[in-house]
Amino acid sequence: MRNKLIEFKNVSFRYGEEQSWVLKNCSFEIYENESMAIIGHNGSGKSTIAKLMNGLLFPQEGEIFIGNQKLTEETIWEIRKDVGMVFQNPDNQFVGTTVQDDVAFGMENRGIPRKEMMKRIDETLDAVGMLDYRMTEPHKLSGGQKQRVAIAGVLAIFPKVLILDEATAMLDPKGRTEIMDTISSVQNERELSLITITHDLEEVIQAERVIVMNEGEIWGEAVPRDIFAKKDELREIGLDVPFIAYLSDELQKAGIAVTNEPLN
Ligand code: ADP
Repeated sequence: MRNKLIEFKNVSFRYGEEQSWVLKNCSFEIYENESMAIIGHNGSGKSTIAKLMNGLLFPQEGEIFIGNQKLTEETIWEIRKDVGMVFQNPDNQFVGTTVQDDVAFGMENRGIPRKEMMKRIDETLDAVGMLDYRMTEPHKLSGGQKQRVAIAGVLAIFPKVLILDEATAMLDPKGRTEIMDTISSVQNERELSLITITHDLEEVIQAERVIVMNEGEIWGEAVPRDIFAKKDELREIGLDVPFIAYLSDELQKAGIAVTNEPLN
């Protein structure tokens, strides 16, 4: 039985008193070492959920728990140690003059001793396949390489949960697959929880569970296979099922499917 790591209890959020609610009464749980995808069309509230998870925003209604702690202005600094986030645009996340400095940044903020820092820089850059670039200036890297370094920086602080907010959106399919493979091997090694926020259903295939957002509400929550089975309803809320799931469905209907195994 896995322990609960994140819990949203009846969370509602709006960006200002005059504005409409962006999240409406959302409740869900994420467990240790679980891989969860949060999907939904643009504007459905996914990024707002991510920002609530590490206290960049606070809900007007409802409660958020990380580990056993309620997220408040007082607990946020402690809680942030456990929550690593990578956003869509890596350029906004770079602060160092070299790749190595950049990976060190989050650790410096947390007072990690220099010797331990150097060890973690080696390990995390190696894990994301960027060890040869440790003295390179970040702006000389490709989009995919920058995202790898951003992920290394977050992994170096040993979070309990890694949140990827459209973090592979700028990459080509090959780069995307490589990064997701790297992350899933680190996830297994460290028993990390992984939350992938995306509007791309392709990325959902590897997740254990999926939350579907629509207009600030939780539209559904299930294993990927059950989500994909609702392809007509998904299309109505602006989401397209991956070609592979569509193909498998069509083959089965035509009676030429070779397997009935789940896709995930
Ligand atoms: P998603 O990540 O699913 O695209 P977001 O959480 O970014 O959705 O946005 C949800 C809603 O909140 C959208 O209607 C968006 O326009 C609005 N919103 C997002 N950020 C802000 C902000 N800083 N101020 C006001 N409204 C915002």
